[in-house]
Amino acid sequence: MKKIAIIGAGLSGLTLGQKLSKKADVFVFEKGRGVGGRMATRYADPFVFDHGAPYWTVTTQEFKNFLAPLMGSVVAKWRGNIITLDNSNPIVNNISRSSYFVATPNMNSLCKHLAIDLNIKTQYEIMSIKATHEKKWHLISSNDEDLGIYDRVISTAPAPQTLKFFSDYLPKNHGLYKPTFDSCFSLMIGLHHAWEREWIAAHIFNSPIKWIGVNSTKPGRNHNFTCLVIHSDPKWTKANIDRDIKEVQDILLNELKTLITLDIKNLSYVSMHRWLYSKVNPLNNNGYYVDLELGLCAVGDWCQMSDIETVRLNAEKAADFIAAEI
Ligand SMILES: Cc1cc2nc3c(=O)[nH]c(=O)nc-3n(C[C@H](O)[C@H](O)[C@H](O)COP(=O)(O)OP(=O)(O)OC[C@H]3O[C@@H](n4cnc5c(N)ncnc54)[C@H](O)[C@@H]3O)c2cc1C
Repeated sequence: MKKIAIIGAGLSGLTLGQKLSKKADVFVFEKGRGVGGRMATRYADPFVFDHGAPYWTVTTQEFKNFLAPLMGSVVAKWRGNIITLDNSNPIVNNISRSSYFVATPNMNSLCKHLAIDLNIKTQYEIMSIKATHEKKWHLISSNDEDLGIYDRVISTAPAPQTLKFFSDYLPKNHGLYKPTFDSCFSLMIGLHHAWEREWIAAHIFNSPIKWIGVNSTKPGRNHNFTCLVIHSDPKWTKANIDRDIKEVQDILLNELKTLITLDIKNLSYVSMHRWLYSKVNPLNNNGYYVDLELGLCAVGDWCQMSDIETVRLNAEKAADFIAAEI
């Protein structure tokens, strides 16, 4: 059996892992402490926040077919009112019903489900790869540990991170140099009481804030507390990315106070996360890169767009393509 190393245990890496492990010896290496990647969950007892992707939508039959057996166990619909707010006119000016899907009990649960039965090594950051004379690859960790020899290496880390270890083996005009990413600040707020307003999320315009999600209203969460996840606007984030994180927190809190009249003096929990690579600016590309001659592959949202449905479907296609030649 061929030996395959997959770098990254987000949705792309785990989809590839699940599909390829039927035909190959698969080893997944993840630099974080757990699986999920940007389908991320922060635990701050009693508060829980999905501080990366808050939800996904479904448009294709293929993706519906994947989700169907998971509905009611690790996937559910997040029902409720979605409002639209405009900073220049802070009143509710549009209300719609959510057509959002989420993983349950937390956003990383879907990835945890896919990770069952996979050989995953967390807290292993890949720093470099080295070609052998037999056209195979050594994987080297950030501790300079040699993690073995593999027939294929598949990276699902965002393109700029993948280039750190692939660039020596790729031409300078390779597609991996093209993707550009938005960054995002996630502000997390916990309150020791239930959410009492009649909406579960808000899209915001003309503001440093782009999104307010009431995480605790998602299915499978503890509804006795309020957990808010606020995402900053991409343009505003770009202009403020190097600012002190405490300053950013204060700006977002004050903005929130104006937008939804929240009493920001009595918050039980406040925390920030900075996503350097949040969402890719969409590219009209093939959904993956596979170089059969080299034995190097690169897959991930950054190949096309940051949308969980597209990510899953592209990773499936890449896995089928790779599986056909091993
Ligand atoms: C703030 C935010 C909001 C979003 N909103 C939405 C939304 O509303 N709807 C939607 O559909 N999508 C949304 N997304 C995008 C969605 O989360 C991503 O497109 C998707 O999760 C990408 O999955 P992936 O597996 O391709 O990449 P990732 O989830 O990034 O997985 C890559 C993994 O590689 C690991 N890694 C990186 N470098 C190394 C290394 N050197 N060694 C080992 N491991 C490494 C990382 O730790 C990570 O776990 C959002 C994302 C963010 C951050």
